[in-house]
Amino acid sequence: MDLCFSPQEREFRSEVIAFLDEKLTSDLRRQQRLNTSFFSDPDLGLRWHRILFEKGWIAPSWPREYGGAEWTVAQRYIYDIESHRAGAPYLQVQGLRMIGPLIMKFGTDAQKAKYLPKILSGEDYWCQGYSEPNAGSDLSALTTRATPDGDDYIVSGSKIWTTHAHHANRMFALVRTADTPKRQDGISFLLIDMQTPGITVRPIITIDGEHEVNEVFFDDVRVPQAERIGPENGGWECAKYLLEFERGGGFSCGSLRASLERALRLAHAAKARGGAAADPSIFDRLARIRIDLDALEMLELRVMSGLEAGRNPGVASSVMKIRASEIRQSISEAAVDSLGTEALRWYPQRPLKRHAFDTPIDEDAAAAMPIYLSERAHTIFAGATEIQLSIIAKSIFRYGR
Ligand SMILES: Cc1cc2nc3c(=O)[nH]c(=O)nc-3n(C[C@H](O)[C@H](O)[C@H](O)COP(=O)(O)OP(=O)(O)OC[C@H]3O[C@@H](n4cnc5c(N)ncnc54)[C@H](O)[C@@H]3O)c2cc1C
Repeated sequence: MDLCFSPQEREFRSEVIAFLDEKLTSDLRRQQRLNTSFFSDPDLGLRWHRILFEKGWIAPSWPREYGGAEWTVAQRYIYDIESHRAGAPYLQVQGLRMIGPLIMKFGTDAQKAKYLPKILSGEDYWCQGYSEPNAGSDLSALTTRATPDGDDYIVSGSKIWTTHAHHANRMFALVRTADTPKRQDGISFLLIDMQTPGITVRPIITIDGEHEVNEVFFDDVRVPQAERIGPENGGWECAKYLLEFERGGGFSCGSLRASLERALRLAHAAKARGGAAADPSIFDRLARIRIDLDALEMLELRVMSGLEAGRNPGVASSVMKIRASEIRQSISEAAVDSLGTEALRWYPQRPLKRHAFDTPIDEDAAAAMPIYLSERAHTIFAGATEIQLSIIAKSIFRYGR
């Protein structure tokens, strides 16, 4: 693998930096600094989404025939690193990185024409309806039922932990359409209009004080059968394809490097004040995290090159998911530790950007604890760490036979 950039790639990098300089206003950067979650509220995320859409850069990995930029792995990597370094807002991934690629692979021509352009433009805002109160890690235990009725299904049941369901106008959901001996064989994949009568969204406020996740209830909700992706009872194949990309379909190293830089800034500022970071072990910890991050970056680059050559991430997606979430948590933990008791100062305003701060360092300090709390979820969502470890173990034993 050649790790040096070509002259064209260096030119592309300059173009990216110039674009970010011009378009990332100080207001957008400030809002992202005070965004304590991995997700952006639509008023921030969609603002940046539309700017990228106008430039034609909103879907770097999508093929051109569907309106994507079809960038090479190197271009995507350069963009990822530079945009996070510049402090660009996070984008909503459920449309661009989850349901979009799934529709491209399994959708009908009519579904592609209906949905892909609106994912690109940001007109449709998607949420993911997989988890249920008794079906999280054990996803195939799901019981939300879709019963055929003429050309429609009647959907009843509930979903939980649905990120941004209160903002979304669309949900992709797994539903039970048959009771089969093997539970996975009775599941279908549906696209649901969130405005349909019978849907109720109820907020869940998490430990960081944010409203991001929700319960969603379906009370005899009518969904056209034309909104099913793939065959009836063939939803599990879609679910698995999507999960593999959810866990390993993009780079984490850009945002992790940005978080690490921020933790370093905080540690240096605390040291200057004679605070907890006067303890040099904080800098040792941050140095070790940087080494872990370098190792993760190499793995991500290898997987991305494979993707470009048409190979799915496979079990490497589990390794990347575990390492990225653990590194993320270790960074926010070091940031909080470097602040000492200062980290306990709690600003209740949500979003945090509603509060006025004097300096970027004050903002970083105020955001440190909510970020630390919010990031505890990273080893749970998109497949809990224990589940990823089981996937890795199974793959080793399979190959070892
Ligand atoms: C912030 C956040 C956002 C989320 N967003 C979404 C979303 O948008 N859409 C959606 O569908 N879901 C979402 N989820 C749900 C998420 O996917 C589930 O929380 C996750 O799959 C775990 O399921 P669970 O919560 O039911 O926990 P459980 O599955 O009950 O797990 C509890 C604990 O037991 C462990 N465990 C479970 N089974 C095993 C096993 N077989 N072996 C070893 N250990 C095991 C787990 O690792 C975990 O530590 C979100 C969750 C969070 C926290």
